[in-house]
Amino acid sequence: KPVIAIVGRPNVGKSTIFNRIVGERVSIVEDVPGVTRDRIYSSAEWLNKDFNIIDTGGIELSDEPFMTQIRQQAELAMDEADVIIFLTNGREGITAADEEVAKILYRTKTPVVLGVNKIDNPQMKELIYDFYSLGFGEPFPISGSHGLGLGDLLDEAARHFPKDEDEEYGDEVIKFSLIGRPNVGKSSLVNAILGEERVIVSNIAGTTRDAIDSKLTKDDQEYVIIDTAGMRKKGKVYESTEKYSVLRALRAIERSDVVLVVLDGEEGIIEQDKRVAGYAHEAGKAIIIVVNKWDAVEKDEKTMKEFEEKVRDHFQFLSYAPIVFLSAKTKKRVHTLLPVVQTASENHAMRVQTNVLNDIIMDAVAMNPTPTHNGKRLKIFYATQVAVKPPSFVVFVNEPELMHFSYQRFLENKIREAFGFEGTPIRIFARQRN
Ligand code: GDP
Repeated sequence: KPVIAIVGRPNVGKSTIFNRIVGERVSIVEDVPGVTRDRIYSSAEWLNKDFNIIDTGGIELSDEPFMTQIRQQAELAMDEADVIIFLTNGREGITAADEEVAKILYRTKTPVVLGVNKIDNPQMKELIYDFYSLGFGEPFPISGSHGLGLGDLLDEAARHFPKDEDEEYGDEVIKFSLIGRPNVGKSSLVNAILGEERVIVSNIAGTTRDAIDSKLTKDDQEYVIIDTAGMRKKGKVYESTEKYSVLRALRAIERSDVVLVVLDGEEGIIEQDKRVAGYAHEAGKAIIIVVNKWDAVEKDEKTMKEFEEKVRDHFQFLSYAPIVFLSAKTKKRVHTLLPVVQTASENHAMRVQTNVLNDIIMDAVAMNPTPTHNGKRLKIFYATQVAVKPPSFVVFVNEPELMHFSYQRFLENKIREAFGFEGTPIRIFARQRN
């Protein structure tokens, strides 16, 4: 998917514009931790074109001086984006900080579209003419607070999207990534996987920008480890900031079928572990929880069980995710990982037979009657699978509002009991039958 980044000095309205473009995206699940709040990265759509958008202003670069921060945000946009929206404030005119941003953007080949915000009515349009002097061509008048002019701005941005998004890898290849906070051992684990016996590593493909993916084959199955860049190539100032590494992780998740959430068995689970995992779940990816550094844990026969309970308690929304305990350092059980990835990926892409699905739903209804509300009972007519990756089901009913969350859960459990689906989220939507 093409990536748009919004840059500009503080207070020009970046996050307002970001939120306008992203729109009200209703999260499908309710119990996912706060990844939707405070968003700096999201998918969005304009005229049937899907893209991702980054609000670089949301990436705080801690205590760097103001001008340095602005500069780093612009550099980050140049690294990450296919198109940059350079946002300014029409009411305040061009400031020194705008010129600073412009100076950095002159160096990039990435197309830049200039937006002049806070043009809330047609009479104010003449304010945009000054902005030609920034040297990025036609300034687009917009009003974030009134939602005006965004269409023209996005049209212009979309004109610069890369022509054909090259299909990076074939459908037969399983793409997976490792996410987790710094030092849980992601890089060590990648190296351990690549160093496994019977794993054949092929050419390392230089892919999107500076990401370096690893291609490998085991037991005739091809895999690509999507590089959570920064994992191998560390250094740039902003890479050490949490939000930036989150951003990188989100982009890796996006390109993956299966996401390995890596935890540090020695240090235990902390709140930060939850954030990106929540995003992977929301994005509908297959998920495996990996507990690394298990060599460093003093164990008795209960230790693993206890840790597992902690994981389940902490990641309740990932009840479908298998847990693998291993050590990247001693390589213990590293060889068990790829088969688990393969199974999760198969389940993620599984299609079930409609008649079998409906038998299961009808049995479920017979066992546990549908809920009623104000004397009205939910009626289920039939169900069908409408998508894979993740498996998604539509249940046709008399009134969708009668489908209570807990009943939906019950149906999900029944579907899981019947088909497995280990490692993958599944989605159920209630639709009115007309
Ligand atoms: P990343 O930031 O998640 O990529 O983590 P690294 O792979 O750089 O590892 C961080 C630190 O943990 C390094 O000092 C590793 O040697 C250490 N480490 C990684 N895996 C293991 C493991 O399985 N056991 C132990 N004891 N240490 C590990």
